[in-house]
Amino acid sequence: MGFGCSLMNIKFNDHPLPTLPIMEDLPTDRVIGITSTIPIEIVFAAGYIPIDLNNIFICDRHAYKMVEDAESAGLPRNICAWIKGIYSAARKYHIRKVISVIQGDCSNNQALMEIFQSEDIETIPFAYPHAKTDRRFLHDQLMMLSDALGVGYGKVEEMKKRLDAVRSNVHEIDRLTWTDSTVTGEENHIWTVSTSDLMGDYTVFKERAVRFLQSVQARKPIQHNLRIGVVGIPPICEDLYPFLSSIGAHVVFNEIQRQFSMPYPTKTLVEQYRQYTYPYDIFSRLEDIQQEIKQRSIAGLIHYVQSFCHRHIHDKIIRRHIRLPVLTLDCDRPGPLDGAMKTRIEAFVEMLKYHRSETSVV
Ligand code: SF4
Repeated sequence: MGFGCSLMNIKFNDHPLPTLPIMEDLPTDRVIGITSTIPIEIVFAAGYIPIDLNNIFICDRHAYKMVEDAESAGLPRNICAWIKGIYSAARKYHIRKVISVIQGDCSNNQALMEIFQSEDIETIPFAYPHAKTDRRFLHDQLMMLSDALGVGYGKVEEMKKRLDAVRSNVHEIDRLTWTDSTVTGEENHIWTVSTSDLMGDYTVFKERAVRFLQSVQARKPIQHNLRIGVVGIPPICEDLYPFLSSIGAHVVFNEIQRQFSMPYPTKTLVEQYRQYTYPYDIFSRLEDIQQEIKQRSIAGLIHYVQSFCHRHIHDKIIRRHIRLPVLTLDCDRPGPLDGAMKTRIEAFVEMLKYHRSETSVV
């Protein structure tokens, strides 16, 4: 069942959690695909509909096949499945314009932009600065993106204020996950990861977030034996969160997804995207992870790494700096966890539970 909404008349399936717009009903000339989190304030202010191609790929019932389709179309087997999924999503939904992050994400995305160009998809490059201290570079990039979409910068800062109010609901959902335990780790993941494009319609997104917050007021705290965090890019496997909760582990921290929600209070867009840790070096991420481990009383971390992703290299640095047990989980394609992965996760969770009970005995 679909329902109309106040902004651009996008239709959505009725659901308590964020969902994707019904893509077939979108005005294709207003849709802009994004390959990673970018300043969507600019896209909204210019009157376009940002659609995160990662989201429409991973929510597709045929996500696994979309990876295979991309390989049939010539993308190599030994590159990350997210890139192949983004490619197939753009083709499947006839996306005509894409904003590609060419610095601050990965070189695969840069090459993907060139594939899009060769297939007559209009591309707009966006680059995060190499160092987060480079305010001038970031400011220039924001201006260039505003110019490319034909919107004045004043309107963009206005839009930031509007989206701050929308995102604050997700920050509350995140808080309830670790303070009151009334939001599951999976719900936390879905809400925070969806802030990358706010479902293409921030008005509907806000309505749903408010409704969700009302609905959790009546909930009792989730019973669990352990609080853990998931760091690294959002997992491609479909059942990690239900599996963790089935063995008594409550995920109270989703590192990168939380970053998509722009969790720090900022006054300007430059500051907001400077504080956002994902595009910069691992050390900014580590600072955030360490702070949240302490704040959220986390007993252990799952470091999710995507097969064939350069970010896997960060595992060594994370392990050296984080003074907690870390399980590195590597997945390739969409689909359920396999038996070996489940066994490793179970052993890790059991070890954490055992360690906790040992240390709590005086
Ligand atoms: S998972 Fe890694 S390789 Fe894949 S798109 Fe993201 S940053 Fe690039």
